[in-house]
Parts: sequence; structure tokens; C-alpha cells
Amino acid sequence: VDRPRPLVAGNWKMNGLRASARVLEEIHAGYTPGLRAKVELAVCPPATLIGHAAQLSVGSRVAIGGQDCHAKESGAFTGDLSAEMLADAGATYVIVGHSERRQYHKEKDQDVCAKAVAAHRAGLTAIVCVGETREEREAGKALAVVKKQLRGSVPVDSNSHNLVVAYEPVWAIGTGLTPTAADVAEVHAAIREELKRLVGKADAPKVRILYGGSVKPTNAAELMAVENVNGALVGGASLVAADFLGIAGAY
Ligand code: PEP
Repeated sequence: VDRPRPLVAGNWKMNGLRASARVLEEIHAGYTPGLRAKVELAVCPPATLIGHAAQLSVGSRVAIGGQDCHAKESGAFTGDLSAEMLADAGATYVIVGHSERRQYHKEKDQDVCAKAVAAHRAGLTAIVCVGETREEREAGKALAVVKKQLRGSVPVDSNSHNLVVAYEPVWAIGTGLTPTAADVAEVHAAIREELKRLVGKADAPKVRILYGGSVKPTNAAELMAVENVNGALVGGASLVAADFLGIAGAY
């Protein structure tokens, strides 16, 4: 099977001032040709830093992404940012449907899907996030929830170039808790199956499926070795260059 090139993406969330350019510089400096050969790196800083981050990344090829986008291209949507704006600022990725957006901004699958469509329209690769809550896992509904989110959130025009899926169990985000390797394998296998229907049998094996939720340098090797795990979406640990690079180095 031709495994896709892994992607390790950092989600800085609402963290980072201009002084954080130092962290970006450290990440760029640590993204050596040897590491580059093994894994693709992306950083999704707050939108205020995308332009600066994109400028810094020119030589080092760390990709830059947004953390959310509006579905529309432009218009009277005060405070929102379009996918076209993110692309114009130098982003090539955008995270959509992160559980914090689903929770705090009441985003539903159809909203996430519209945002992913917008990402594709602007030429961005959408990192579509899915994942069950603790209650859903305990009720034995994790697979059903993730499959439903995937069907509702992945647009029909998706392919292995413009789509990355991130499995992020809500209960593992920022908690230090992670699922067992067996549980990760089970969900990622189910996502791969669902992708056959969504992007077609030929392209499904090439879609990167990231695991996200309390990934650290200490657990990255075990999680990244799991079948159908093609990289990581990293929150907290992506704010420290050595940790982020340590996770990427797990490959
Ligand atoms: C995230 O929110 O995308 C995430 C994975 O966070 P953390 O790594 O901090 O758990």
C-alpha cells in the first residue's frame, strides 16, 4: 500500500503574539532536510500571524494554515475571515470543524462542510476535524458519531490533495488523556472505510488521517505507528518548538 506522506500540523489556537515569531524561527531551523524527507510540517497560528509566518516559511517550507474560515468569499460578516483571505495571506491549509468551534460557536456538520467547500474554492487543503465526546465513547457510540460527522462534514469535491481528516476525541484534547493504540486503530480504520465512499476507492488510501489529542514527544512514536495514522494535529505541544519538532521526529 502506498502510504501518504505524514503531516504534523500545529494548532496554536488563541495563542501567539508577534514575539512568537521566535518559536516559528526555531521550528523552521529544526525542519532539516532529513526531517523534511520524512514528514510534512504545518503551523496554524492565529490569523494575525499568518502573513508573518508565511513570510518566514518561504525558505524552510513549513506550511501555514488558518484555524477556521467563513463559508462566503467576502461580505458583511464583521470579524470573520474568508478562505480567500487566508490563502491571500499565505496559508495553504485551514482547520475546519475543530471541536472548540463546534462547541463554542455551535458549528454543525453542515457548517463545517460549507467551510470546507470554501477552503477548496480558495485552493486550500481543509483539515476536517471529527471526534466523539467522553459520554459518546462511554456509551459505545464513538464510531457511529465519527462516521456521521465525516459524512456530514466532508464535501463531495474532496480528494487526497484538498482533504485531510483529523480524528480528535474531544476528551483527549488538552487533557493529557489519549485513547489506546487499539482504539485509535479502530477509529482510523472506520474513517478509511468511510473515505472510500466519500472520495472513491482509489483515492481513499492517500488521504492523510491525523490523530489529535494530547500528542506529546513522549507518546508520539506509539500513536504515529498505529495503522492508518498519517500524522498528528498538535495543540499545546506545538507552542514549544522542541516539543513540536520532537513529535515530527517520531517518524
Ligand atoms: C487540538 O486542539 O487540536 C489538540 C490536539 O490539542 P492538544 O494537543 O493540546 O490536546
